[in-house]
Amino acid sequence: MTASLGQAGGGNESMQTGLERSGLPVTELRGALYRRAGVQVGMLRLDLTHPQISGNKWFKLLPLIRRLRAGERPRVLSFGGVWSNHLHALAWLGHQFGIETLGLVRGHPDQADTAMLQDARRWGMQIRFLDRATYRQRDQAEFRRWLSASWPDWEQLPEGGSSAAAVAGCREIWQQIVDPDWQQPDYVACAMGTGGTLAGLIAGKPARTRVIGVAALNLGEAGEAMVRRLLQQAGISDPGGWALDRGLHTPGYGRLPLGLAAFVDAFEQRHAVPLDPVYTVRLLATLQRRILTGQFAPGARILLIHSGGLQGRRGLEQRLRAGASAFHGPHPV
Ligand SMILES: *Cc1c(COP(=O)(O)O)cnc(C)c1O
Repeated sequence: MTASLGQAGGGNESMQTGLERSGLPVTELRGALYRRAGVQVGMLRLDLTHPQISGNKWFKLLPLIRRLRAGERPRVLSFGGVWSNHLHALAWLGHQFGIETLGLVRGHPDQADTAMLQDARRWGMQIRFLDRATYRQRDQAEFRRWLSASWPDWEQLPEGGSSAAAVAGCREIWQQIVDPDWQQPDYVACAMGTGGTLAGLIAGKPARTRVIGVAALNLGEAGEAMVRRLLQQAGISDPGGWALDRGLHTPGYGRLPLGLAAFVDAFEQRHAVPLDPVYTVRLLATLQRRILTGQFAPGARILLIHSGGLQGRRGLEQRLRAGASAFHGPHPV
């Protein structure tokens, strides 16, 4: 079902197998909330894509993976925070294919001992820390000049890997849906960080399907602009039929309110599907709110994208446990 890679370092051969050929399962979520609203909810399990590159990051990096399989050996640098799933995935590719990788990490070396960065280092990624003010300038001309002068001949991937190539890779998520009942759902909903995954889903969607993006950060109107820019960069004309949901107001990345921690726990107990505490938990909480406020007509088929990110859970495991036992609210999941 999934590309099973065996041990890291086992050579490139194992990278040839599986994924594109075999597709991914859709887990149907059943519960009183969905039943009462008369909606059907399925979850496309990108989290099962690959043991190291969990979830959407595989698809975002797919064009690069193909180039590596074809024998190209670029040196690649990119950006992210100390819990970046993207840098984690890139570091693993570097290890697997023997390419040099560099992570420009937002933050201070003192907060750097995360499980994610430990993995990345172990896989040979060089890490350079940038303070927040510098990091914010990463798209400005002066910073770019410094970058190109410091690491000439390195390929630069934007934060989160969201580039035109990532849009093309994420478009292929649609081909992973082998269950014909879920190939043309009424809605597809996906969490959003830098927007590449959402842009790819929009680019490849059937005409009848509406796409809902759930931003993990309060991006305001900038969120839509990010998605439009990515579509444009990928040479895709915006088909419409998509929107961002801004209804959930929670603290941003890395902050997990107790209510959401309890939500993760309740959801896992009910459905036996693990959620990451940044993205998919917000996706599910948003879906719940939309259902409770009657925003889906009875009969609607809603496909959620489980975008993975489960390696990043390690940083919040304690908080998850604390939240689960400290919170006693209603969780109609
Ligand atoms: C990176 C990530 C996202 C966001 O993807 P973008 O393409 O940056 O919008 C969503 N979910 C998970 C689990 C992620 O790791």
